[in-house]
Amino acid sequence: MHIGIDIDGVIANTFHLLVQELNAYFGVNNALEDIDDYDIYKVYGIGPEELKQFTLNKENILISGPDIIPDADYYLKLLVSMYEVSLISARQEKYFHLTKQWMEKYNIPYHRLILWGQHDKREVCVRLGVNLFVEDSLRNAVQINACNIPVILFNAPYNQGDLPGEIWRCHSWLEIYQVIDQVARLKKVAAGVEL
Ligand SMILES: [Mg+2]
Repeated sequence: MHIGIDIDGVIANTFHLLVQELNAYFGVNNALEDIDDYDIYKVYGIGPEELKQFTLNKENILISGPDIIPDADYYLKLLVSMYEVSLISARQEKYFHLTKQWMEKYNIPYHRLILWGQHDKREVCVRLGVNLFVEDSLRNAVQINACNIPVILFNAPYNQGDLPGEIWRCHSWLEIYQVIDQVARLKKVAAGVEL
C-alpha cells in the first residue's frame, strides 16, 4: 500500500505558528479555535495577496519553526516499516532543503519527499499510485477523494463540515494509524476474494 501524507497541519504544526505570527503582526489575539476557514486571510480581514506577502516574509520561520504534531514521528516510523510513504506537500520546491532539515531535526522517516508547489495534488497522487492520503485541507481531501483515493482528514477548526465519500475524520495520529490499519486489512481481504 502506498500512503501519501501532507506536511503542514498533519506532521508540522505550522498553522499554530502562523496564527501566532499573524496575531503579533496585526496586534490581535485570535485563538486557533477561532480559525474556522482554511483561507486564513479571511479571518484577519486581509486579501489573499497580503497573506501571500506575509508568508513570504516569514518563510524561514514558518518552514523551520513549527513544532511537530504530537506522535507524528512515532507513527510515521511504524508506517514506513510497513508501507510505502510519500510526503506530498503544496510547499514550493525551493523549500526542499529547509523541509528536509526539519524532518531530520524531528527524526521523521519517509520514502519520498515531494514539494509539489500547488494545492491540487490529484495528478501527483494518481501518477505515484497513492492508495490512501492523509490531509488537513477539506478542499484537498475532496479533490483527492474524487480520484477514488480514500482520505483521512486530520481534524482542525478550519476543516469542519460534512465529509463526502471515503473521507474519514481523525483527531490524533493514533486514530490515523488505526484507520490506515483497517484500510490495509480490507485491502487484503478484497485481494483474497479476487483470488
Ligand atoms: Mg496541510
